[in-house]
Amino acid sequence: MRPFTYETPAARIVFGPGCAERVLAEEVERLGARRVLVVTTPRHTSLAASLPVVATFDGVRPHVPEETVDDAVAVATWADADAVVCVGGGSATGTAKAIALRTALPIVAVPTTYAGSEVTPVWGTTDGARKITGRSPLVVPKTVLYDPALTLTLPATTTAASAMNAMAHCVEAFYAPGANPITDLVAAEGVRVIADALPGVMADPAGVTGRTGLLYGAYLAGSAFAAAGSGLHHKICHVLGGAFGLPHAETHTVLLPHVAAFNEPAVPALRTRVAPALGDVNVTDGLTRLAARIGAPKSLAQIGLAKDDLDMAIKLVLEKDLSDNPRDVGEPEVRRILTGALRGRLPAATAPSPTRGEPR
Ligand code: NAD
Repeated sequence: MRPFTYETPAARIVFGPGCAERVLAEEVERLGARRVLVVTTPRHTSLAASLPVVATFDGVRPHVPEETVDDAVAVATWADADAVVCVGGGSATGTAKAIALRTALPIVAVPTTYAGSEVTPVWGTTDGARKITGRSPLVVPKTVLYDPALTLTLPATTTAASAMNAMAHCVEAFYAPGANPITDLVAAEGVRVIADALPGVMADPAGVTGRTGLLYGAYLAGSAFAAAGSGLHHKICHVLGGAFGLPHAETHTVLLPHVAAFNEPAVPALRTRVAPALGDVNVTDGLTRLAARIGAPKSLAQIGLAKDDLDMAIKLVLEKDLSDNPRDVGEPEVRRILTGALRGRLPAATAPSPTRGEPR
């Protein structure tokens, strides 16, 4: 076994249907908060009724633009808030994290999608066309309330994409820079739980049992991602979301089998751990079959990338540090991955190639 460092952000997790309504006020009080800023979308404002709210910021926008953060921080300062409660998807959580990064206010997070951001120290904002990300202990929510009942209203297409976003956290956790035996364990279980639950949720979106499985999978996925970090897949997704405004979760869904197919020859664990958890013999087929079963988008063209954007996308991806990828990756490889994803065509079989360091 390789030597490893495993750092996990210490958050308090409360999990179960109905927990948000039952214990949100208690959990906020537990932190000693008396002046709460609620960060949410108009859909979820009612949950805050039991809280000592001094202000509500419901101007959450996808990809967390810096102007939105400026506005939200101004509200927090004006209201003299002593805590942030965010209720919503990754965009609401991301806005709360960006506020915490500037103000050090503690966060209580109530996620309503499967993004997993609520358990990671990763923050991300967009400045014009550029996505900026970083890691800071300041942005890790102190408490997370996972309430599957709040996810029942998530539309089927958003559910599918968001769950595949969680799946991407798990798959990439096997070769991201901080990958270790514990993240392998958590991520493999995340893949299994998500792959088991997702088709059932698509068939019965109002079923609490399926939603509970999916939200648990999302928690595992976020936890694995938190410790393992970002690799090639997430770096490409950040470029596509930041520079071309592609929808976050759908971009992950389309790109995942392409990057997995590229890295599979250099990452044996994708075949020995992930593929079996998907019920398949190789990870690419497993992901492609799952995506087809849930009717997920197949190409970047389908979700808004134009053919003319390809060269700029490749250039921006190559500006990132890709040196920690297990397979050498340069212009030809990025072009192959992005061209395939743009058209929705996977490579037939990817030949094994030299790996960096010890194969995982
Ligand atoms: P999102 O938060 O933008 O939500 C997608 C859509 O679903 C929105 O229209 C939202 O209003 C709606 N929605 C949310 N919950 C709902 C519910 N229960 N019922 C009905 N509609 C609901 O998207 P997302 O995919 O959850 O998050 C994407 C963002 O999260 C991106 O900015 C991404 O970078 C970030 N993210 C960050 C991390 C991290 O670790 N920092 C991890 C994953 C994602």
